[in-house]
Amino acid sequence: MSSPDIYYFDNNATTRVAPEVVEAMLPFLREYWGNPSSIYTFGRQVGSHLDEARARVAALINAEPREVVFTSCGTESNNSAIHSALATQPDKRHVLTTAVEHSANMKFCELLQRRGYTVTFLPVEPDGSLDLQRLEESIRPDTAIVSVMWANNETGILFPVREIAAVCRRKGVLFHTDAVQTPGKLKIDVRELDVDFLSLSAHKLHAPKGIGLLHVKRRVKYQPYLVGGGQERGRRGGTENVANIVAFGRAAELAMANLDEENIRVRGLRDRLENGILGGIPGTSRNGAPEPRLPNTSNIAFAGVEAEGILMLLDQAGICASSGSACTTGSLDPSHVLTAMGCSAARARGSIRFSLGIYNTEGEVDYVLEKLPGIIARLRASSPA
Ligand code: PLP
Repeated sequence: MSSPDIYYFDNNATTRVAPEVVEAMLPFLREYWGNPSSIYTFGRQVGSHLDEARARVAALINAEPREVVFTSCGTESNNSAIHSALATQPDKRHVLTTAVEHSANMKFCELLQRRGYTVTFLPVEPDGSLDLQRLEESIRPDTAIVSVMWANNETGILFPVREIAAVCRRKGVLFHTDAVQTPGKLKIDVRELDVDFLSLSAHKLHAPKGIGLLHVKRRVKYQPYLVGGGQERGRRGGTENVANIVAFGRAAELAMANLDEENIRVRGLRDRLENGILGGIPGTSRNGAPEPRLPNTSNIAFAGVEAEGILMLLDQAGICASSGSACTTGSLDPSHVLTAMGCSAARARGSIRFSLGIYNTEGEVDYVLEKLPGIIARLRASSPA
C-alpha cells in the first residue's frame, strides 16, 4: 500500500508500480540516458540493457526475444496487429472479433468499418463464453485476422485462446489475442498457445504506463503501424522508451515469480470478497461464469442501485473500484460487455468490478465487506425505485 488511506481494488485498470521496478528503471533516467541506436559506447551500453529487458519479457511469454516488438501501450499493440494483418494481405478485407473486446480493439475495428472493411463482432453467451463452432463458421475466405481477447477486463472471463488458435491454424487465418489482463495471473506460453500475435501492457503488471509489447511470431509477415527510424528491427519507428522497457523487463521477472501467489493467495482474497458480498448483501449476483475466470476479478450486480452512487460512496471510504473498463469510466453508457452478455441496461448500470492484486490484504477485503452493506442499504433507501 502506498497510502494507508487507499484501499485499491482496481488492478485491472492499472497497478501500483512495484518498488523493485522503480529501482530498476531509475538509472536509465539519471545516468544512462543515451540513445540505444547510437554507435558510441555511452549509447550502446544502453542498448545492451534494452536487449536484456527484451529477453526478460520474452521469457515471460516463452517467446524468442526477436519476436518482441515494444510499443507504447496495449492499445497500440492491438491496433498494430490488426493493421499488419490487413496491410500484408490486401486482398483480405474481413476481421473477425468479439462483441466484448476492450475499446483498444473495438474502436479500431469500428474505424476499419468506416474505411470500408468488414468486421464481424461475435456475440457471447449469457455466461460470457464464446460459441467456438460459431466462431469457426464465421471465418470467411477473405478473413485477414481473427482477434479475440484472452481475459476480459470487466468480468475476468477467459476465452479458450489455444482452441481458437487451432481453429485459425486449420483455416489458414492469422490469430491475435489481447492478453493484456493475463500476466502474473496466468501462465503465458506463446508456443503452446500457437498464436501469431499477442498484446501486453506493462502498467497492468506493476510497471509504469506508456509501454507495451506486441509478440509477432517468427516468420509471420509484419508491416509496422508506426514508421520512422529503423528501431525494433524496422517494426516500430520511434526512439525506444528505455527506462520503461527496463521497468517492463523487471516487472516481467516479478510477474513470473508471483504467478503462484496470485493464483492462490489473491484468488482466495477475491473469493472471500465475492462470497462475502453475495452472501451478505441481498439482491446481489455475479456477472458471468465463475470459471474459467481470472483469479483476481469479480463483477457483481447490485439490484436497484446505480454503480455511480456505489463508487462515490466507496470513494468516500477510500475504496477504489470500477464500474467497467477504465476507458468508459465517467460515461453513463452501460458496459458493452455486460450488454453483450444479455444483461439489462439497469443491471449493467448497477454493476461493479473489483479487481485485486498482489498488494491487497485480508484486512482490506474485510474493510470493504464492512463498508459495502451500509452503502448499498443507504442507496436503496434513497432510491425512488
Ligand atoms: N486490452 C485490455 C483487455 C485492457 O484491459 C486494456 C486496458 O485496460 C487495454 C487493452 C489497453 O491497454 P493500454 O491502457 O496499455 O493501452
